[in-house]
Amino acid sequence: MDVYDFELARVRMVERQIRARGVGDPRVLDAMRRVPRHEFVPEELRHEAYADHPLPIGAGQTISQPYIVAYMTAALAARPGARVLEIGTGSGYQTAVLCAMGLEPFSVELVAPLLERAASTLSRLGCAARLSLGDGHDGLPREAPFDGILVTAAPRRIPEALVDQLAEGGRICIPVGENAQDLVTAVKRDGALRIIDRIPVRFVPLVSPPVPPLKTSVRAAQEALKPWIR
Ligand code: SAH
Repeated sequence: MDVYDFELARVRMVERQIRARGVGDPRVLDAMRRVPRHEFVPEELRHEAYADHPLPIGAGQTISQPYIVAYMTAALAARPGARVLEIGTGSGYQTAVLCAMGLEPFSVELVAPLLERAASTLSRLGCAARLSLGDGHDGLPREAPFDGILVTAAPRRIPEALVDQLAEGGRICIPVGENAQDLVTAVKRDGALRIIDRIPVRFVPLVSPPVPPLKTSVRAAQEALKPWIR
C-alpha cells in the first residue's frame, strides 16, 4: 500500500467506523484522519492498520480498535492545550491522537521496550508528548493535576491516585473490571467521580509487576520532539 491508499483507508475508517457509530466531534474526526495509524503497528500488519479491530503490538499488548480510541478521546471533552494523562502508552497511537488534537499529553507505560518504540515513533512523527516509565496505578503525581485522564488497560477498580490527580471538573475515561469490563467516563465534582457514560469493552489488564529498567534514553528522544506538524 502506498501513502495515498493509507490516506483513503483513514477517510473510510473515520466515516464507517467512527462517525457512523456516533462520534461526531469534528476535532476528534480530524485528528483520526491525520494520524498515520499504520506507523504504530508492526510492519507485517500494516495492511490491517485501518481495520475495525485491535492489533497486536508485541509484549502481549494491543493497539486499541480505532473506534475505541476516538470514543475515549471524545469522552474527555478537553479544550485545546489541556493537560491529559494517558496510562498505557503501548504503541503511542492514542498519544499521537491527543497531540493531533492540540492537547498536552503525558503518558505512562510499564513495559520499557514498548515505551522506547513509542518514543521513537512519536519523535519521528514530530509529536510532542512527555513519556514516563512506571506503574500507571500511581498516575504521575509530579505533573498533577490533569484536566483529563485516559486509561488504556483495565484495573479491577479505579485507582485512587488517578482520582486525586484529576482536576476538579476534569474527566476520566477508564475500562474497569476483570472479565466483563465497562469503559467508564466520569467527571470529578466536589472531589468525587460522577459517572456520565459506560459501554461494555474488552481491554488488556492493568498489571502491577515491578517496573523493569529503561535501556535506552527516552529523555534523549523526548528532547528531539517538536510540536505536531501536519
Ligand atoms: N494506548 C495504547 C494501547 C495500549 S494497550 C495504544 O494506543 O497503542 C495497554 C498498555 O498498557 C500496554 O502497553 C501495557 O503494557 C500497558 N500497561 C499495562 N499495565 C500497566 C501499568 N500498570 N502501568 C502502565 N502501563 C501499563
